[in-house]
Amino acid sequence: MRIIIDGQRIPVTTRASKDILLTIKNMAKMLNWGIYYDTANEVVYINSKNSTQPVPPPERQIPGESIESTRLLNKTIAIDPGHGGCDPGATGPTGIREKDNTLAISLLLRDRLERNGAVTVMTRDADKEVSSPNASSEEELGARVDIANEANADIFISIHNDAFTNNTASGTTTYHYGDAESTKLASYVQKCLTEELGTKDRGARFASFYVIRYTDMPAILVEVAFISNPEEEMLLASVDGRCKAAESIFLGIVKYFKV
Ligand SMILES: [Zn+2]
Repeated sequence: MRIIIDGQRIPVTTRASKDILLTIKNMAKMLNWGIYYDTANEVVYINSKNSTQPVPPPERQIPGESIESTRLLNKTIAIDPGHGGCDPGATGPTGIREKDNTLAISLLLRDRLERNGAVTVMTRDADKEVSSPNASSEEELGARVDIANEANADIFISIHNDAFTNNTASGTTTYHYGDAESTKLASYVQKCLTEELGTKDRGARFASFYVIRYTDMPAILVEVAFISNPEEEMLLASVDGRCKAAESIFLGIVKYFKV
């Protein structure tokens, strides 16, 4: 992240984080200075009260951009890549594992969110258990919930792949635990996913999954597509499919915070 005050670059190298951006924002507000965060390039433009330079610089003033950029600025988003470590989740006809797909999509989603000023909290960022290899499934799910609750996240997104005994089952489903905010978040993400992936819309639905039930914030569990379906297994394993899935979830989140 670069910081430019009155057109002068400050010689610091730091990663964009919620704490730093909030501190800078509050400082600028207190001093009555102008501030603009260019998320695409990770640049904070600050202009002192007496500066004659506009904020943001005119060439960067794209309509709507600043709204898009600041929408996620103060948000903490917990991302939960389903399964991991000794639990592979479901396995596709050619041996693709759910835990690898969920992690890949989650890491892409993390990057997209962070580039737009959000702070992310991952329950796992590698192929491992969140609790320990010998933990019960309730301990494992509890560890995921604890991470989100302790981080005081604004929303929680758990990413999974669906599976069924019959390999013709297909489509995308987003689950919520019935409260208004989670239902709204689920609807946006579900709509963006089915539009972008072209998958069958199985709806935003109620479910009592542990991770969406015990998290303190609006929470959803996304079943991106069916890993048991040969065509969707390929979609989930492909770079293109994973990027599209991450991008759609990102857009759903942006829409949720807009209204
Ligand atoms: Zn799963």
